[in-house]
Amino acid sequence: MQVGIIGGGQLALMLCEAAQNLGLKTAVLDPNSNCSSKNICDLFINANYDDIKAIEQLAKVCDVVTYEFENVDTKTIDYINEKYQNVIQTSKPLKLANNRIIEKEAALNSSFEPVKFSVITNRDDLQKFIFENKFPVVIKTTKFGYDGKGQMVISSDQDLDCPIVTQIISSGAVCEKYIDLNYEISIIAIRNKHGQIKLMPPAKNVHKNNILYSSTIEENEQYDEICQKVKNYITYHDLIGIITVEVFVDKNGNIYFNEMAPRPHNSGHYSIEGCNYSQFDMHLRCICDRELPNVKLLAKSKMLNVLGQNYLQSRKWIETNPIENIYFHDYGKEEVIENRKMAHITAVGHQAIEKLNEIEILFGEKNE
Ligand code: ADP
Ligand code: MG
Repeated sequence: MQVGIIGGGQLALMLCEAAQNLGLKTAVLDPNSNCSSKNICDLFINANYDDIKAIEQLAKVCDVVTYEFENVDTKTIDYINEKYQNVIQTSKPLKLANNRIIEKEAALNSSFEPVKFSVITNRDDLQKFIFENKFPVVIKTTKFGYDGKGQMVISSDQDLDCPIVTQIISSGAVCEKYIDLNYEISIIAIRNKHGQIKLMPPAKNVHKNNILYSSTIEENEQYDEICQKVKNYITYHDLIGIITVEVFVDKNGNIYFNEMAPRPHNSGHYSIEGCNYSQFDMHLRCICDRELPNVKLLAKSKMLNVLGQNYLQSRKWIETNPIENIYFHDYGKEEVIENRKMAHITAVGHQAIEKLNEIEILFGEKNE
């Protein structure tokens, strides 16, 4: 069986690694001829995402096709699905994820409350939202935002004068109340076409500069209410495949839907070593219609993202300090760029997590 992946970055790389262990062949399509998964996939198609012929070639040779990012054109997916019927997930999860307004409304429809928000088309809308909700608020572009790009926290009247505010509003925006967070967690759910759902152990996430910094997964932490909301949401919308839901919990214990990603998620990378089955295994099993096993956390785990500014230092550290139960995943990216996700490190078990603190000190970060 061959699995086609639209997008060839680190998520595709880890999907290909998991596919090998499951005895599946892979084919990857990416415009970057040196993308992370190029050398591991069985077939590489170097083409742009709007090259319909190339996408069709991928769909033709593969038994099943998936995507590793949420901005894939839904029309392309609908087109190949009509012809080949092999995008089991369909384009529906993309439609709910690639526009913040639709995303929040979909959550609300399934009774999963998003953070209080309003659609902003001009400055008056923004002023009105601030008047009603008080500072701080955050404005976000409705489309193409990731790693905090396309968003800005507004805490005072002076902030309103920043040129980026006008830029964000003009590209179509939502404004949200800025929540005083107690914590953020992400729930990764896998739902197959028979309606069976399995959840990965929830990850507590720390963001720095709006980029995921670390995810920690504790034994015996259940988050039952949040998990139930996620299950209701994906069932209500009949979503298939892997779905990650990012959740905010405020200081009063209120639970809010933040956003959804219909793909393996950075906060689930720990599962490669931290669980009996990884998020990548589970997604592949799901779309290939294999049995979905229960996922168990093997021990408390912690994942640290390695951004461009920390990459060379941390790679050297790992090379000179090989430690049991610490795993370095290098995405093999050509160019080291500040704030670019270059690699991640997972520590499994309390001792390894303590050692990981040494890397955090190296990053110049305080211990959590
Ligand atoms: P992205 O698509 O870039 O991941 P998010 O909406 O998830 O965008 O925002 C990135 C991070 O910024 C969140 O994980 C959270 O830490 C912070 N953040 C975003 N919106 C809010 C909010 N309304 N209240 C508090 N923190 C927020
Ligand atoms: Mg996010």
